[in-house]
Amino acid sequence: MSFYTVINCMDGRTQIPAIEYLKKKFNVDHVDSVTEAGPVKILADQPHHSRRCQAIFDRVDISVEKHGSIGIAIVAHHDCAGGLLDDDSQKQQLKDSIKNVSAKYPNTPVIGLWIDSDWAVSQIAE
Ligand SMILES: [Zn+2]
Repeated sequence: MSFYTVINCMDGRTQIPAIEYLKKKFNVDHVDSVTEAGPVKILADQPHHSRRCQAIFDRVDISVEKHGSIGIAIVAHHDCAGGLLDDDSQKQQLKDSIKNVSAKYPNTPVIGLWIDSDWAVSQIAE
């Protein structure tokens, strides 16, 4: 069994698009989901000192260590109620989040996914 990890928003509209994208793109059997309201807002800010950030990492650890996840995707999306920022600002937070999560998991590839107003998923350039 193969696994991928997604750090997704809690928004119900983003779950299936992210899971389907990752299963198809990386040919994995399952996607472990860690959800927060606007996770990029948490991960872009002071990642090593934030209790909320550590709570995310605690769950990602399980996916990486117990399931041998082959990669970690971080999601940001249009109309996010958790972030309260415009799309461009959220995309910048997504890039900052990739840097911080990559530093925490240097042996696991980390990517960023943007989900647009049509709920289409695209990988953002780092
Ligand atoms: Zn959201």
